[in-house]
Amino acid sequence: MTEVTVAGVTVDTRHWIGGERVGSADTFTDVSPIDGAVLGEIARGGRAEADAAVAAARAAFPGWAATPPAERARLLHAVADGVEARLAELAIVETTDNGALLRSHLRGVMPRVAHNFRFFADWLTDSLGHDDFDTRGHENRVSWDPAGPCVLITPWNAPLMLATWKVAPALAAGNTVVLKAAEWTPLTASLLADITAEAGLPAGVFNVVQGFGEEVGAALTAHPDVRRISFTGSVPTARHIGAAAAANLTPVSLELGGKSPLLVFADADLELAVELAVEQYDNAGQVCLAATRLLVDAAVADEFTARFLAKARTLVQGDPRDPATDMGPNIHPEHLARVDGFVRRALDAGAKALLGGGPNTELGGLYYRPTLLTDVARDAEIVREEVFGPVLTLQTFTTEDEAITLADDTRFGLAATLVTGSRERARRVGARLAAGTLWVNCFFVRDLRAPFGGARQSGIGREGGTWSFDFYCDVKNTVTSP
Ligand code: NAD
Repeated sequence: MTEVTVAGVTVDTRHWIGGERVGSADTFTDVSPIDGAVLGEIARGGRAEADAAVAAARAAFPGWAATPPAERARLLHAVADGVEARLAELAIVETTDNGALLRSHLRGVMPRVAHNFRFFADWLTDSLGHDDFDTRGHENRVSWDPAGPCVLITPWNAPLMLATWKVAPALAAGNTVVLKAAEWTPLTASLLADITAEAGLPAGVFNVVQGFGEEVGAALTAHPDVRRISFTGSVPTARHIGAAAAANLTPVSLELGGKSPLLVFADADLELAVELAVEQYDNAGQVCLAATRLLVDAAVADEFTARFLAKARTLVQGDPRDPATDMGPNIHPEHLARVDGFVRRALDAGAKALLGGGPNTELGGLYYRPTLLTDVARDAEIVREEVFGPVLTLQTFTTEDEAITLADDTRFGLAATLVTGSRERARRVGARLAAGTLWVNCFFVRDLRAPFGGARQSGIGREGGTWSFDFYCDVKNTVTSP
């Protein structure tokens, strides 16, 4: 039976194609990372479901593209209303499925999911103007035309949040959508399908397919009728998707991993620096933006480390449904083994664990202790590769130039955080770092009007405000003679 019930909330786990629930002959099992409980069976899509979903999105496209922007915006606000009405249900279902804190889902994440729809609805009607100008008496009129069916592929670490960053602007722009949720966290995408239907979105405008990346994901990204592919996930998967997109020359947006630095200068407010550094354990370290490389001026390193350890030791690890918990489990046994493999190899290579260094044996399951490793070589795997778990490294520097050299010594460029008492230094250092987002004396402050994305191997393209519409639209210039 393709149905899951979590805390009294029933989720239909079949696909949502053309306004109907559609099953598959095959299913796969969804398991909660909190305690390993089997949640139920999920439809396992393949090429046939990918074809059906793209066909439904294609059929619905002309009608949705022709729907006046104000009406599209009204419907997206109705979706936001639906998210708000079911906020507590979405929060508990997401927590059960991916292990992130219930209190974060209730207070922060799900309200922002609703905001994602409201923001892009309002941007469409208030800010996405026409850019008119004159060339020798000829009028140039720039317009943002919807592109067509869009395939959106998302990861498990913040499932509904990351999906709706894509779904909302793609729909607002007048496109139709096929969303493929991550196979480790399929549930809230299915609930979103119900919410869009209740809001009155026409059939086929929003479709959800469930299944594995190598199966239904690969079929979707190779489909010739798809006009945009937007992907958030890992670099290896992005290479597959880029190759599939290249065959049809489908424009692709890639939001990928990171190995971001957090630089603490000697003039920093150390209390703030420690607070920001400990924040990197949020979501058990499964955050693309996490500043996992702590780079600290040697002059303050001892004091920073002592204060960091004191604060990190107060983190409460446990069931993410408990409001007292600060850190829940990691997502999956395979993922935990990968995280632990990085730590084991680092320790074998001579790193020292100042904190943690292995699974939480008292809690068992998928709980990994917050870990801080020092004595790491500059070219060590643990400093180079994205671990995507609660694992930070600590390196010191003695000059600003050395700090920049260490910070910039990475193939990623998603974000960087600077903690310094000098705005002049922040400007100087920031100008020399490759990062899509630079935070100065803060972390994780995100405004949907701002561009978001990565430099180098952290991605291609930007999301947010006009950048989202630029991607999801065919921008057209119409030149009219006097
Ligand atoms: P992943 O790349 O393994 O999977 C992401 C999605 O891609 C899943 O839905 C998966 O089913 C699908 N997929 C896998 N193979 C595919 C294929 N061949 N064709 C089409 N789809 C395929 O990533 P993950 O483990 O789910 O997520 C963690 C990664 O995501 C980390 O690297 C993290 O940094 C990154 N991430 C980036 C951002 C960002 O905004 N830059 C945000 C969150 C996570």
